[in-house]
Amino acid sequence: MKNNALYLKTLGLIGGMSWESTVPYYQIINRTIQAKLGGLHSAKLLLHSVDFADIAELQRSNQWDKAAVQLTTIAQNLAHAGAQALVICTNTMHKLADEVQAGIPIPLLHIADPTAQAIKAAGFHTVGLLGTRFTMEQDFYRSRLENTHGLTVLTPPQPERDAVHRIIFDELCLGKVQDASRHAYQQIIANLQAQGAQAVILGCTEIAMLVRPQDCAVPLFDTTTLHATHAARWAMA
Ligand code: GLU
Repeated sequence: MKNNALYLKTLGLIGGMSWESTVPYYQIINRTIQAKLGGLHSAKLLLHSVDFADIAELQRSNQWDKAAVQLTTIAQNLAHAGAQALVICTNTMHKLADEVQAGIPIPLLHIADPTAQAIKAAGFHTVGLLGTRFTMEQDFYRSRLENTHGLTVLTPPQPERDAVHRIIFDELCLGKVQDASRHAYQQIIANLQAQGAQAVILGCTEIAMLVRPQDCAVPLFDTTTLHATHAARWAMA
């Protein structure tokens, strides 16, 4: 009988952005592999977890070039240590996906791709997008959904974007899950639905800590679950 573990590829994860959402990545990847292969099977993976204070400061001060050098160096080290694909465990840092990919010999599994594929498989074409200010307002994420995958993307108006961003950084990345913030997100999601969103992307890897499918009338697409599951399937393929 063949030993399935011998056929598992090794994943390289860049986590810690925030570590609160790297925990579910680790669980989902391992559980997906265990569910498929059975027995005592688990993921072969390498994790480099950063100090998020450093990265958040580079984001805040618009020093994306420095962040790109850091992430590329980490990715190169993971590849050198045996990783066969790279998983960046955050939506926001996919702003640097092209630069990081250009610096490594292994594929970067982009978080927006399994997300868009799941949305299209469910028959939706117009989606709301929640995430950090960078993810909602800049082009790197939205354009991948719209130009590569043909989706129409709606984002909340500015005061709501500010609230979504603030709750991510001041609460969720610190492990704080508050009812008042859940209610705020529920209202923002309902507003996106009223604008025409058929579904909403939880486009920040911490949002699923706060908002669950049963909290909303519209289908939610959680990027953490979709990305981690995709990575696990890639490792088994
Ligand atoms: N984890 C979040 C995301 O998915 C936010 C943290 C960050 O800025 O990287 O975008």
